[in-house]
Amino acid sequence: MVSVTGRSLNILIIEDNADMAETLSDLLHTYGYQSLIAASAEEAVDRMAVEMPDLILLDLGLPDMDGMALLNKVRASSFVPLIVVSGASGSDRIAALESGADDFINKPFSNAELIARVRALMRRIELMPQSDTRMVVGRLELDIPHRRATMRGKKIHLTPIEYALLHTLMRKAGEVVTYNDLLRAVWGDGYTGDFSVLRVNISRLRQKIEDDARDPVYILTVPGEGYQMPSSV
Ligand code: CA
Repeated sequence: MVSVTGRSLNILIIEDNADMAETLSDLLHTYGYQSLIAASAEEAVDRMAVEMPDLILLDLGLPDMDGMALLNKVRASSFVPLIVVSGASGSDRIAALESGADDFINKPFSNAELIARVRALMRRIELMPQSDTRMVVGRLELDIPHRRATMRGKKIHLTPIEYALLHTLMRKAGEVVTYNDLLRAVWGDGYTGDFSVLRVNISRLRQKIEDDARDPVYILTVPGEGYQMPSSV
């Protein structure tokens, strides 16, 4: 069983196609995950509230609500790891990532690919280095055991990816972190060269932590190289 503190991980599959949902569910069970199925957005919202899944697989084409609208609704109240599974073209990908999806996978996908994405996301979330308990840069503070970020003492709501990005930049404060090093640290090896994903998430993170996202002082762009968080602000 794949578990956190002895409990097996529970994955919510939001998918209206019953065959597809069953296939996904069987696949996840084979790899030691528990799963729940919701066939509509309404059912998904109910199941999320009651069962608090550890990860969500979200199909964008749902009968009662646009999947993107559901994604926005989920992200308004929860930072549960979430992978969008889409039959739509790549144009939805950036929109989904902008709305807070942690990853995106196109149909049709291979079983190996899906399981690799689920594992990679869980690994990123669970195995962030935990040696420090607190990091501070300027008025920005990270409480690592609680995975909480604050700016001037006020809580900042971050998705798991935004948290991982911030954590990586803060850990290396004073150094330039190259685009590919950031992609590798936060998303995993498969994302090298995928700068649009990085840009979207950095821009969202700046909106949350900077006074003026167009004139950032915490996350600086080093043109042609990467990003840098100064060691003092
Ligand atoms: Ca569908």
